[in-house]
Amino acid sequence: MMTNATVNVVKAITPVTRLSGIGPKLQERLEHLGITCVEDLLFHLPLRYEDRTRLAAIGGLRAGEQVVIEGEIQLSEIKFGKRRMLLCRLSDGTGSIQLRFFHFSKAQQEGLARGTRIRCYGEVRRGPSMLEMVHPEYQQITAGQVLATEANLTPVYPTAEGLHQIRLRKLAAQAIQLLQNNQLALDDYLPDSVIAELNLPTLKAALLYVHQPPTDAALQQLADKEHPSQQRLAIDELLAHTLSLRRLRQLSRLQQAIVLNDGEALANQFLRQLPFDLTKAQQRVVKEIEHDLQQSYPMQRLVQGDVGSGKTVVAALALLKAVANGRQAAMMAPTEILAEQHRDNLQNWFEALGVNVVWLSGKQTAKQKREAAEKIFSGEADVVIGTHALFQEAVNFKNLAVVVIDEQHRFGVHQRFALRDKGVVGEQAPHQLIMTATPIPRTLTMTAYADLDCSVIDELPPGRQAIDTVVVPDARRDDIVLRVHKACQDGRQVYWVCTLIEESDLLQAQAAEDTATQLATALPDVRIGLVHGRLKPEQKAKVMQAFKEAKLDLLVATTVIEVGVDVPNASLMIIDNAERLGLSQLHQLRGRVGRGSQASACVLMYHGSLSENARERLAVMRESNDGFVIARKDLEIRGPGEVLGTRQTGMLQMRIADLQRDQELMPQVQEVADLLLEEYPERVEPLIHRWLAGKVKYGDV
Ligand code: ADP
Ligand code: MG
Repeated sequence: MMTNATVNVVKAITPVTRLSGIGPKLQERLEHLGITCVEDLLFHLPLRYEDRTRLAAIGGLRAGEQVVIEGEIQLSEIKFGKRRMLLCRLSDGTGSIQLRFFHFSKAQQEGLARGTRIRCYGEVRRGPSMLEMVHPEYQQITAGQVLATEANLTPVYPTAEGLHQIRLRKLAAQAIQLLQNNQLALDDYLPDSVIAELNLPTLKAALLYVHQPPTDAALQQLADKEHPSQQRLAIDELLAHTLSLRRLRQLSRLQQAIVLNDGEALANQFLRQLPFDLTKAQQRVVKEIEHDLQQSYPMQRLVQGDVGSGKTVVAALALLKAVANGRQAAMMAPTEILAEQHRDNLQNWFEALGVNVVWLSGKQTAKQKREAAEKIFSGEADVVIGTHALFQEAVNFKNLAVVVIDEQHRFGVHQRFALRDKGVVGEQAPHQLIMTATPIPRTLTMTAYADLDCSVIDELPPGRQAIDTVVVPDARRDDIVLRVHKACQDGRQVYWVCTLIEESDLLQAQAAEDTATQLATALPDVRIGLVHGRLKPEQKAKVMQAFKEAKLDLLVATTVIEVGVDVPNASLMIIDNAERLGLSQLHQLRGRVGRGSQASACVLMYHGSLSENARERLAVMRESNDGFVIARKDLEIRGPGEVLGTRQTGMLQMRIADLQRDQELMPQVQEVADLLLEEYPERVEPLIHRWLAGKVKYGDV
């Protein structure tokens, strides 16, 4: 039903060839930017603006300014230094400035001869002897010619290889002209009532403004993306993202899943053998999960819980639910160490219940994998634990009903969808539980995880000690080594974590090996173990086991121990070169201590002088133990793309909106999304398409 006559849901497309100057090559380059029609150009939004509306006096320039200047070339010479370059001196009567060119043709050089008048645009920099511009944009002025200055701020667009800014700017200007003259059919999908209520500009007005802001526009407001026109477009974009995930959620509701009703007896038996009672928060989340599992559509639930909040037990109960109903369950972890630990815990817990746990990892031999696959296929395996090998290899389940993905933040949005697809068996999709220790602020979950239901374990088990955290320079290394020694003599266990910026396993392993050797020399009476990513799984498991059994006092490790490792007797952690790690990684690592009854401590050791940013991070760590506080700070410092680890996936690469900056828009966006789904469902698809076409599969637009 068409509720608003002005909305035309048939997507109007104006081919780019409608614009002048477009050949096949240019067309192809535009396609690289996702621009296939004129309307797409309108939504290719400026990154920033330049003010070329005024001519600046050369005498009044300061370094750092971006300006238009005009004058006469007084001197033009080629210098041969390390590199050949063309230097010109430009004067306008108020002062002079040097222009420096490293790349120039003969013709260009002649065009910049002494006596020529030119107009330049560029950034003023401090040069060796005077202010200068390096490779300014310039234009010759013939005698008597008066150039007009720009009437609008100049937009700067994201470009692609082989597509010059100026070219793109001209094309955008043509598209804007067509829009201005009402020659493009551009539907505004926001209902009139919303536009009026929120006092927003129309889509057309907003687009005209952001592409060609008038001379008197506030540059700072535009740079901060706080102009109402920008906010209007940000709302549209956030809406498109939210709707695509909501639609995904609707689609998953239409899928069938196995209803898991039975299992109370088995769950109680499991709980009785645990050495502790569930916290209130755990109980609540378990209830939420049980409710989901009793529906005939698949559960899609995200469980957030700070490091050490006890997510594994909650997952175990979900797994058991499948088993009690005669079905299989699987649990996947992002690293070998964490997966192994889950396997050991679950085997230990489930053995007495007669539940058969099978292990699958990419590092197993072909024979081991084949045997595991057979058990999984025949149904002999009740619960399968593994790394992502679980989903990548040709593994077929007999009747998979529950999938748990641990520490989801390590996987990213794409993989989340891939796993969801992979888990589908015939008509039925398995229930999915996704667990993360990266607390995600609510405004972010509403967008980035709008396809999931969320639970939060907002309570730590009783008796947990706050971890005393100190920040010390590397110069005090000897003191730290003494502290480690003392702790070991007192029967406590210690982690020493080596960090490197390089992603290279090899270099990290070397750094850890070197540290272990040095510490062994300094502390001959301390039993030292070493784990890193280059060890064979059996070796790694052996060392971890020895540490767990307190046969080792000190574990030197790379960040492989970041997630999940659980040795309650370890109560001191040294993080070497802590300034290299991000907040969430530091928090995860630190969460390895403070798990037992002893007072725990963490030493963040830094090297050299700290950057502003690093100083801030380490201060946050010193002051807080609360994952949510730390996550909020992390968001402020790094932005949501990096925090959620999905920078490359496109989800958070928005054109104009920003999940952090535009947080306060989110409740409105949610309301508008509801309204569109309810009353204007025909607009949903074209709106998603407008902003997300050609992007990742948030609902296969
Ligand atoms: P995370 O949420 O970081 O995955 P884990 O599931 O590894 O946390 O649990 C951390 C530790 O706390 C484990 O040793 C676990 O057995 C223990 N634990 C979990 N729940 C409780 C509880 N309710 N009371 C006491 N200890 C608990
Ligand atoms: Mg865990």
